[in-house]
Amino acid sequence: MKIKREIFIGNVGIGGHHPVSIQSMTSTDTHDARATLTQIIELKNAGCEIVRAAVPDREALAPLAKIIKESPLPVVADIHFDAFLALKSIEVGAHGIRINPGNIGSKEKVKEILKAANAKNIPIRIGVNSGSIEKKYWNSPASTAEKMVASAMDHIKFFEDNGFFNIKVSLKSSHVKETVNAYRLIHQECDYPLHLGVTEAGTFFRGTIKSAVGIGSLLLEGIGNTIRVSLTANPVEEIKVAREILNVTGLRDKGIDIISCPTCSRTTVDLISLVKKAESALADIQPDRKIVVAIMGCEVNGPGEAREADIGLAFSQKHGYIFKNGEMIEKVKPEQSIPRLIELIKENFSRA
Ligand code: SF4
Repeated sequence: MKIKREIFIGNVGIGGHHPVSIQSMTSTDTHDARATLTQIIELKNAGCEIVRAAVPDREALAPLAKIIKESPLPVVADIHFDAFLALKSIEVGAHGIRINPGNIGSKEKVKEILKAANAKNIPIRIGVNSGSIEKKYWNSPASTAEKMVASAMDHIKFFEDNGFFNIKVSLKSSHVKETVNAYRLIHQECDYPLHLGVTEAGTFFRGTIKSAVGIGSLLLEGIGNTIRVSLTANPVEEIKVAREILNVTGLRDKGIDIISCPTCSRTTVDLISLVKKAESALADIQPDRKIVVAIMGCEVNGPGEAREADIGLAFSQKHGYIFKNGEMIEKVKPEQSIPRLIELIKENFSRA
């Protein structure tokens, strides 16, 4: 794996030997500092490590200052079109800023931003999307991914020529394959940390699949230093999906992994609703290690899987059998099985 340069957004290290971090973006109105801070706290509780807030206009600067001051997470200011907003966001203490240098005005304006960010030692994310490829590449026969990379490399060169190296790069497209190709290319071209995401991925269902495939396949190749799952949904859902992507790619061996069978004609309980109940009761538990919970519908594969898990539940015609670390420890009635399983998980495996 190619080691990237190390940068810091507040106290969160990105690149170097730091673990892949989870980001999200507030969906509240930044003018409403109270609502935005409430959402940031919800995001933190769900496992978010860095938060980004849009700064749409000058009226958002005073609330932004309050948000930064009171936020429990480092705050990245997201700026488009107006260099003044970037300069002021830096002044009021943003821990990082995200700009597309192509839409921020003149080169002179970008230079001013670089100078201000350097003075405060904060990183800038160069965010190029498939829709913001530099004009000079529009008619090139190169692929969209190649054009995104060429645009980003031009911006990087400009930043470096002006003595700025505190950089993070993102190359997002709403097409998964294009996104993956672009990141693979830029991973070879530069050693700045990469912020991964599939942009405008869509609703919870479609967006989760797109993000899992796009972000997940890059992470499995050792590409990516921080991730944002982008969903048309409450951003807390983005964090849950991001956590799960990191878990299944083996990058965070923490959290609850529920294994459950697909059910068949041997199933004698309403396993789908029982597993859903368990999943929602366990959603807020963040153990220090990975805890495997198996919930199985019958005695064919159930006891085997349940025995393999840290804690497992397998049903027979009339009972649920709870296993812990390979041993059957309790026989319970089906209707009591999930509450008892949750109780045991909280007693034995939860931090709180
Ligand atoms: Fe069917 Fe039992 Fe397998 Fe579940 S564990 S799919 S109920 S055979």
